[in-house]
Amino acid sequence: MSLVNLTKQTKEDLKKLINSVDTILFDCDGVLWIDNEAIEGSVEVVNRLRELGKKIFFVTNNSTKMRNEFAIKAKRMNFNIEVDEIISTSYLAANYLKNLGFKQKVYVIGSRGITQELDAVGIKHVGVGPDVLQNALVHVIENLQLDCDVGAVIVGYDEHFSYIKMLKAASYLNNPNCIFIATNTDERFPMSTDLVIPGTGAIVSAVETCAQRTPILVGKPNPYIVEALIRKYGIVPKKTLMVGDRVNTDILLGSRCGFQTMLVLSGVTTLREAIALKNSHKKEDKEMIADMYLEKLGDLLPVLD
Ligand code: PLP
Ligand code: CA
Repeated sequence: MSLVNLTKQTKEDLKKLINSVDTILFDCDGVLWIDNEAIEGSVEVVNRLRELGKKIFFVTNNSTKMRNEFAIKAKRMNFNIEVDEIISTSYLAANYLKNLGFKQKVYVIGSRGITQELDAVGIKHVGVGPDVLQNALVHVIENLQLDCDVGAVIVGYDEHFSYIKMLKAASYLNNPNCIFIATNTDERFPMSTDLVIPGTGAIVSAVETCAQRTPILVGKPNPYIVEALIRKYGIVPKKTLMVGDRVNTDILLGSRCGFQTMLVLSGVTTLREAIALKNSHKKEDKEMIADMYLEKLGDLLPVLD
């Protein structure tokens, strides 16, 4: 299989698309980099697009870092980007509460990315770090003291996720006034081995199930992730391109916002999956079909003269 199976797009079509937009939103992992390595050609494309006058933003579902850590990571790989041009789910979750004037404590299932963003907006938190049952459950239940100042639960990626964390989160959420925020619902991480590495979505589902509540999702594909950007920078949806590697987050977000969309095959979604979607007649699949496709972002470079 090759891209030709998917689309008949020409160099001219790609040129036309790029010329028609003034703003480009990039997903990060799988489009710009994988872990700590830039994907070949992506730095050159992003920096060239900026030279061409495009407004550039990086939009990531990853909750494990603060925004300025993402900026440092990106700059280390030679991307030309400022902190304000990065939207991460840890930043959004903290600022969601800040904008509500939230004054209580947050129970966090997640990592330092979330607690540092909470610190940055002066919101107290508990919960981060390992927490496992030290005793038989009956004894733990007898002695468990919930923090009565907790007024919100944030669930993000947590390598220390455990039964007791689930129990605590659901118990806080038993109070209907307790705010429930999920950073993202990505099911798993892309792996080149046969191992399945559970993503934040698996943790969110576990908490959702026992809490019997639905969280406010701040990450992709919820348009919430870009609403503040749209307002602040006066972004015009038709003149905006969303570039992503995952159809059910990036491309779905782009479709929901009325952006043009480009899927790169250097990350999660495979060519086989993209072809299956394109041939699907299901209504819900339509929003996950991208306008354009590339093997990798770097393939755009010859078009940007
Ligand atoms: N969540 C976590 C914890 C991650 O490590 C990653 C990717 O590294 C993601 C989500 C997905 O991030 P992105 O939206 O940039 O693909
Ligand atoms: Ca991605």
